[in-house]
Amino acid sequence: MTGQTLEPLQFDALIRHAPVGIAVIDYLGIYEVVNRAYCALYGYREEEMLGRSFSLVFPPVQFPAVLARHQRFLDEGGELGGEWEVIRHDGVVLSILTDSARMPEAQGHKRRLVYVLDITQRKKMERESRQSAALLLDLAASLPGAMFRLLTPHSGHARYAYISPGVEALFGVTPQQACADSRSLLRCILPADRPAHQASLRAAIQGRHGWEHEFQIRTPAGQLKWVHSKATPQSAGNGDLIWTGVLTDVSARHASDAALKASEATFRTLFETVPQGVVYHEPGGRITQANPAAARILGLSMAQLLGKAIGDPFWHTIHEDGSAFPAEHHPAMQALRTGQPVANVVMGVLAPGRDCVWIQVSAMPLFKGGQLSEVYANFEDITEHVRLERQLRREATTDFLTGVANRRHFMDRLNIEVERIQRHPDMRSCVLTLDLDHFKRVNDSLGHAAGDAVLCHFTQLMSQQVRRLDIIGRTGGEEFAVLLLDTGSDEAMLLAERLRQRVATSPLAYGGRCIEITVSMGVSLICGSDADAQAVLIRADQALYAAKASGRNCVRLAPE
Ligand code: GH3
Ligand code: MG
Ligand code: MG
Repeated sequence: MTGQTLEPLQFDALIRHAPVGIAVIDYLGIYEVVNRAYCALYGYREEEMLGRSFSLVFPPVQFPAVLARHQRFLDEGGELGGEWEVIRHDGVVLSILTDSARMPEAQGHKRRLVYVLDITQRKKMERESRQSAALLLDLAASLPGAMFRLLTPHSGHARYAYISPGVEALFGVTPQQACADSRSLLRCILPADRPAHQASLRAAIQGRHGWEHEFQIRTPAGQLKWVHSKATPQSAGNGDLIWTGVLTDVSARHASDAALKASEATFRTLFETVPQGVVYHEPGGRITQANPAAARILGLSMAQLLGKAIGDPFWHTIHEDGSAFPAEHHPAMQALRTGQPVANVVMGVLAPGRDCVWIQVSAMPLFKGGQLSEVYANFEDITEHVRLERQLRREATTDFLTGVANRRHFMDRLNIEVERIQRHPDMRSCVLTLDLDHFKRVNDSLGHAAGDAVLCHFTQLMSQQVRRLDIIGRTGGEEFAVLLLDTGSDEAMLLAERLRQRVATSPLAYGGRCIEITVSMGVSLICGSDADAQAVLIRADQALYAAKASGRNCVRLAPE
């Protein structure tokens, strides 16, 4: 443009179509020229502006100063430009960027050529980005922990471009110190943790992937903390990376993790070492966990236990009286079904090739989020206890020498039968009383031990003659009684006679000798009118005395 001069018409067209707002304002502030862009910017038509004062676009209070600046520029020259706020026709405030030039004077007429750019949008964005930057900084400052921007140059040391104020509470190092020397933070990391920290950062740099690491620090004040660092990389070109990330204090989590681990370890130790068997059942009843005591008590391997359901045919459970213990009655199954704990249930567990193991089981349902998640069952081995109890019970009811019921037990059973007959007088049962003949002679001639052997021999002969459900009792020294259930007197007499013959023809070989024995018996039917066992026994005994009186080795029936 420098080598040529523009024709006035060309100049006019240039101004008219210029994409920036252009106006010519005279010394008094009157518009002489306004182009299209200028009019569009202010929202006026050309004829609405031409000949009017440029006070049109300024707040009235500002205009005197604006006019003064305009006239000073025209009088004295210098610079007149910059950013202003003006008012559009519809009242909207615009931000504009202007520049001015003095027009060549013609007949002392001074005029200013002004270029105007609408920068409202740009200003708005600048304001917003200033605001959001301020917001981010506030956010960063209020965050627990610290936000950072770390630069890892292709060569040379890493350095912090930014680190939020939280770093001071976390590391005891100010953001300024951290930015001035990134090693001020590195120095806080426990020496033992430094190699892993460096290695993980190096790996993230090489892989250009996110970096996440936890390490322990000691602050300059001597506080020990766990710090979690997480950052994502952005490439800054030429191999440099910018990491944006957060440092957070995770000491509390580590402390609770450690406490949890400790309590888990305590629990594990307990689980492994308690003498009680402990098993966990999933809601279906299958065993998911078992402790060594559980396997030991049941005499099974861990592999045999784990995964087994309560109702598995592998084993079966029994009640104390030997009857089957259905799987659905198992305490764990009950707890699963009802959601209630079940305490101290005794059961016998029979597994292939094992003796019956007696256990006392309690089960406790466990809930997770209101849902029954599993059942915890513990049990004690009470096999020895059950065995002893059974032995005591046996001893309390049986005769030590012969193993048949003792007098008290026999009388109890006889009483029960008498009561039954009292209720059902049509039923028939008999009592047999037996007394060895001249038994004293055995003792006297061969000794007490021979007498004992005879008593045992005689008991065996009796057992062979009666049914399993009949009850044999030793009611005195060499006196016995048999309760013959559901047996009438005829049958009882036949049985007694058979027994008498058997005894008489079955001498005992003892010490190279043959001890012959005979027995006298009395038989009595139990009557509905009998008051008790004693009454029946007395009647049978009377028949027995009659047998003795008749010369022994015979049977007599008591009159009804
Ligand atoms: P009888 O035919 O009249 O019944 O004569 P007996 O000798 O069998 O009757 P007696 O009642 O006189 O004697 C019973 C004997 O049984 C006396 C006692 O020493 C003996 N006796 C009692 N209890 C035991 C025992 O447990 N073992 C042994 N060896 N003898 C016993
Ligand atoms: Mg006797
Ligand atoms: Mg006798």
